[in-house]
Amino acid sequence: MSFFSESLEALVSSGLYRSLKRIESAQGGRVVIDGRDVLLLCSNNYLGLADHPGLKEAAISATSVYGASSGAARLVSGNMFLHEELEKRLALFKRSEAAILFNSGYSANVGVIQALAERGDTIYSDRLNHASIVDGAILSRARLVRYPHRDFRALRCLLENHKGNGRLLIITDGVFSMDGDIAPLMEIVALKKEYRALLMVDDAHGTAVMGSSGRGSAELIGVANQIDIQMGTLGKGLGSFGAYVAGSAEMVDYLRNKARSFIFSTSLPPSVLAASIAAIDIVESPEGDRLRSSLESNRALFSGLLSRAGFDTLGSPTQIIPIIVGEAEETMRFSRMLFDQGIFVQGIRPPTVPSGECRLRCTVMATHSPTDLEEAAARIIEAGQKIGLV
Ligand SMILES: *Cc1c(COP(=O)(O)O)cnc(C)c1O
Repeated sequence: MSFFSESLEALVSSGLYRSLKRIESAQGGRVVIDGRDVLLLCSNNYLGLADHPGLKEAAISATSVYGASSGAARLVSGNMFLHEELEKRLALFKRSEAAILFNSGYSANVGVIQALAERGDTIYSDRLNHASIVDGAILSRARLVRYPHRDFRALRCLLENHKGNGRLLIITDGVFSMDGDIAPLMEIVALKKEYRALLMVDDAHGTAVMGSSGRGSAELIGVANQIDIQMGTLGKGLGSFGAYVAGSAEMVDYLRNKARSFIFSTSLPPSVLAASIAAIDIVESPEGDRLRSSLESNRALFSGLLSRAGFDTLGSPTQIIPIIVGEAEETMRFSRMLFDQGIFVQGIRPPTVPSGECRLRCTVMATHSPTDLEEAAARIIEAGQKIGLV
C-alpha cells in the first residue's frame, strides 16, 4: 500500500475520513446541493451578506475600475488605494488607531503570533482556541501553555507561577468556533494588566455580529479599548474574504515590518476589498441593526427548540449552536439523516474537536425564515430520537 492509501484507509476505518459537499448556488440561507434545494445550517455567513446585492455590485465595479488582481505583495507594488481605504474603515469600525489587512484569518494568526513572540517568550492560549492560533504559536518557537477552556482562575495560577523574563502573550477566541461560547474578556483584561501581558483576541465569529453595533465580542463585554491586538475576519459575518488586525498605529507598523504572512504574500484583490467596505457600510447602518436582531431572534427560537427537546447544546448563547453527539460514526449518520430530509448541517470530528465530543455544529443566519428553522428543529428532534440521543 502507498503512503497515501495507508493514511486514507486509517481515516476511513476510524470514521474520520473527510470529503467535500458541493454547493451549486450562491451562499444563502437555502442552497442547491446535488440539484436539491436544502436548508443551509452550517455556514458562517451569519448576516447573509455573502449574497447581498450591495457587496456584489461593489465587487463588480471595483473589478471594472481596478482589475482582478493586485499583482504583488503590499510592500512591493500590491498596495492599492482600496487596501488603504479598507484599513481606514476597519480602524474606524473597531475604534482603534489603525488596522492591517491579512489574506485570511488563518494567515493573520500565523503571521501575527509569529511576529509577536519568539523563543524565550510564553504564549497562554485557551485550550479550545482555533487551530491557526496553535499553528502560529508553534511557528513562533515560544513556549505554548494551553489553559483550560475559559478558566481565568487557572490562567491566573499559570501566570503567577511564570518564571523567566520573556514576553507574555495571552490569546483567546472572542466567540469559540465549535462551542459557541464567549471568552471571559473582562477577567482576562484584568489579568493581562496585572501580569503585564499582551492580549490578543480572535473575533472571527464575533465580528459584525456581537455587540450593539456589531463591533465584536469586546464591544459586547465593554472592553473594546483594552485589547492590544484585535483580530477579526472578513469572510464570516462580513460576507467577504480576508482578515484584519486592529490596534495601535505602532503595533500595525510593527506587523507591516515583521509579519511574514503579510510580507510574503500577494495582497487581496480589488473585488474583495470593495465588497468588504460595502459590508462594513451595511453592518454600521440600520440594515445592520435589523440583520443582527433577526439573527438574535432566530438564534433564540432555534436554540430554545433544541434545548427544550433535551439536546446538549453546551448552553451556547450565540448563533453557533452545537448538538453534542459523541462518537464520529454516529455524528456522521445523524448528519446524513438530516441531509436526506433537506437539511445540511456538517458533523464535526477530531482533530477539530476533542475525540468523544463529536457534534453537529448548527449555525443560524439572519436570513433564515423562522418557519424553516422550526421545520428543521422538528426534523432534528425526530432524527435525534431515532439514534437515541433524546
Ligand atoms: C475561521 C476562523 C479563523 C480562520 O479565518 P479564515 O479567514 O477562514 O482563514 C481563525 N480563527 C477562528 C476562531 C476562526 O473561526
